[in-house]
Amino acid sequence: MDLGLTNRRALVMGASRGLGASIAAALAAEGANLALCARNEAKVSLVAQTLGAEAIVCDLSVDGAAAAAVVDAQRRLGGLDILVINTGGPPAAVFESITDADWRGAFDGLWMSAVGAIRAALPAMRSQRYGRILLITSIAAKEPVASLMLSNSLRAGLHGLVNALSKEVAADNITVNALMPGYHLTERLIDLNFDEVKISKTVPAGRIGAPADFAAFAAFLASEQANYVTGQAICVDGGALHSI
Ligand code: NAD
Repeated sequence: MDLGLTNRRALVMGASRGLGASIAAALAAEGANLALCARNEAKVSLVAQTLGAEAIVCDLSVDGAAAAAVVDAQRRLGGLDILVINTGGPPAAVFESITDADWRGAFDGLWMSAVGAIRAALPAMRSQRYGRILLITSIAAKEPVASLMLSNSLRAGLHGLVNALSKEVAADNITVNALMPGYHLTERLIDLNFDEVKISKTVPAGRIGAPADFAAFAAFLASEQANYVTGQAICVDGGALHSI
């Protein structure tokens, strides 16, 4: 199947490692022209260099940074067809340990970065009558994970935004979807000292996902072929979600 990604212009946010970097690699392999953004200049430049992509340095938790990254990507690529919204997960915590500042920090990082990026990307996508907007959320949005109060709450809300926005922009051939990772073997999980054997036993597929498993589906959702899929939140999780 030709995904129709050749020369499509894509910004992948949070792409210096992990799922973002893997999505960028999948899109590059399909011939897309890419811009990547992340906080660490050396790391994002290295990934960008490997993929022949533009590197943008930004901290998505800072007010206005996500919108500025989109504008920069549009300038460097001559426009934008695909926007992949991704950033680091908020810290683990239970409700009674979370301060107002923690809630606001997580909201800025996860929510306002998504809002800012979409707001900056939409006018040109509408006028070119084409766009793919993909938010990377988490399986925690459908099945809350103990101690991930911030992620559980905010990401479930983002799925409301995805579905509602999809209706507002569908007539302009713009799709908006969320992709929920289950467990995937990224540096984040390694940093968290997770127990691979123990977690693998909770996944019907019997293993932790590879970032490339996730990226393959993200590339499909970003493709021309996925033109009739919109407003959805879809798991890539080896069957881990206990929900229909
Ligand atoms: P990761 O921590 O390995 O990578 C996150 C990327 O975002 C990195 O490139 C990082 O530099 C960048 N980033 C983080 N904060 C940023 C900021 N403020 N500004 C700009 N860039 C920033 O994470 P991952 O494992 O690739 O996961 C990606 C997303 O998916 C995260 O939000 C994570 O919570 C979620 N998720 C991951 C898994 C998993 O198993 N890996 C499972 C469920 C949800």
